[in-house]
Amino acid sequence: MLRTHHCGELRIADAGKEVTLCGWLQRARDLGGMTFIDLRDRYGITQLAFNMETDSNLCKKARELGREYVLQVKGQVTERSSKNPRMPTGDIEIIVHELHILNEAQTPPFTIEEETDGGDELRMKYRYLDIRRELVRSKLELRHRMALETRKYLNEQQFIEVETPVLIKSTPEGARDFVVPSRMHAGQFYALPQSPQTFKQLLMVGGIDRYFQIVKCFRDEDLRADRQPEFTQIDCEMSFVTREDVLNTFEGLAKHLFKAVKGVEGIRFDRMSYQDAMKYYGSDKPDTRFGMRFTELDELVKGQGFKVFDQAELVAGICAEGCAGYSRKQLDELTQWVQRPQIGAKGLVYVKYNEDGSFKSSVDKFFDQEQLKAWAERTGARPGDLMLLLAGQKDATRKALGELRLEMGRRLDLRDPDTYACLWVTDFPLLEWDEETQRFYAMHHPFTSPLKEDIELLDTRPGEVRANAYDMVINGVEIGGGSIRIYHRPLQEKMFEVLGFTPEEALKQFGFLMNAFQYGAPPHGGVAFGFDRWCALFGGSESIRDYIAFPKNNAGRDIMIDSPSPIDPMQLKELHLKTDKQEGAG
Ligand code: ASP
Repeated sequence: MLRTHHCGELRIADAGKEVTLCGWLQRARDLGGMTFIDLRDRYGITQLAFNMETDSNLCKKARELGREYVLQVKGQVTERSSKNPRMPTGDIEIIVHELHILNEAQTPPFTIEEETDGGDELRMKYRYLDIRRELVRSKLELRHRMALETRKYLNEQQFIEVETPVLIKSTPEGARDFVVPSRMHAGQFYALPQSPQTFKQLLMVGGIDRYFQIVKCFRDEDLRADRQPEFTQIDCEMSFVTREDVLNTFEGLAKHLFKAVKGVEGIRFDRMSYQDAMKYYGSDKPDTRFGMRFTELDELVKGQGFKVFDQAELVAGICAEGCAGYSRKQLDELTQWVQRPQIGAKGLVYVKYNEDGSFKSSVDKFFDQEQLKAWAERTGARPGDLMLLLAGQKDATRKALGELRLEMGRRLDLRDPDTYACLWVTDFPLLEWDEETQRFYAMHHPFTSPLKEDIELLDTRPGEVRANAYDMVINGVEIGGGSIRIYHRPLQEKMFEVLGFTPEEALKQFGFLMNAFQYGAPPHGGVAFGFDRWCALFGGSESIRDYIAFPKNNAGRDIMIDSPSPIDPMQLKELHLKTDKQEGAG
């Protein structure tokens, strides 16, 4: 090897040793008689020292080196006179007596240090330089540990990792597919998988019993901040299990990861139905690190002549502890905040519960002190607290109040990044009605089983059927989701019928799966986790991009390799993608 040690490992106990190190020149400092270089590799930084008096040739050579030159040095580990306690190697330096330039480097477009001067786009374009930074590299290391520990745990639980194909078939359900034109079959296309869903179910029919895969998935969705067209799932499926078995198995995975990767023990999982999540938090992924649950106030507040309440489908509120002292300005600002288009509330009603027991509200004209007191009793407000109420159409009001709750949680510092609140949200609706296309869509996917007790509603009131589906939520982030599956052909056929498929269409799209169900499909269920998101959560970052070695930007482009990009006319032709018009013209 070209080195005896790496740049992060030498300590005072190594003083006197002759060593060879390799790495990149991060920084050089010339101090008259001495030159110091910070040599960096994946493991850390070691200081190199060159002495003008004892070896002027070598010192001169060192002074000519540029940033990011790749060096090999031989020298002696020596105790430093001025130590740097912030660096693990800060007690020593290498007195260099041999210096080899392994490669030169152009001046990098941004500083490759903890604090960088490079903007987002520039660092994306030179991602390989950004990866040299400890900050970025440590995120990839975290990801590696997460993957390793996931494999360890699942392997111990008898899961086996099976690869499923990447060139599959386009289906109309779910998000939009990325497609790949076939050269050998003119006019036909493969699709890239949005998830290995049907394959993992077929593996269950194949008797694999416990499957997992850390797998790339592809969805051609409109881009939102922090969404990647390709992302990674921890995809899992099990046979002969109930929902409880699945939830327990993957609580186990979460606990294992918390302990092995974060060193956090004592993680507990709550359970909450979708209906309660919406009613009390206005979200199917509630952040339960803090309370501030919704209180519905309809019968208390309606019929008093306040139109906004009288005409509302729902009046609900939260209680912000200790906020009675909010100024006029703060309340106006909060009102404007809920009125932003993203939140969409019409207005905000506030009630201050003053320390002296009196109330001051924005609706004093309509409600007296006694009435406001009754609201306080209902919401659990105490002197010093502030009640915030929204009113309007039910779903929209819940959603807006949910956002307000999160905002107040943030303002009151209740969303501590080092606290973890984990839960399963269960019993999602099976179907979602779409006004535009006038049909039902599967809320999860069409293979999710309805709850047994709701199956009979499929014919009469399909919108009310609950699914045997669940999401894992940590600190308000949806980490994963799954379901118990349909495994009988007739029920699967019924499901496609409810989704508006003709029997022929269902057969054409999913005949392979329904046929498989006729050859002894075991009861099964599973889950998939957003691996990038889980890494980001553990890394304490908002962005999944940071945890992907070579991510796409917010417009779905890889600006480093410049993709997507046009292809050669010859290639187009081979793929049968050239239109007649183009052929005529070219
Ligand atoms: N395949 C599903 C998804 O990607 C997860 C599952 O049901 O296991 O959302």
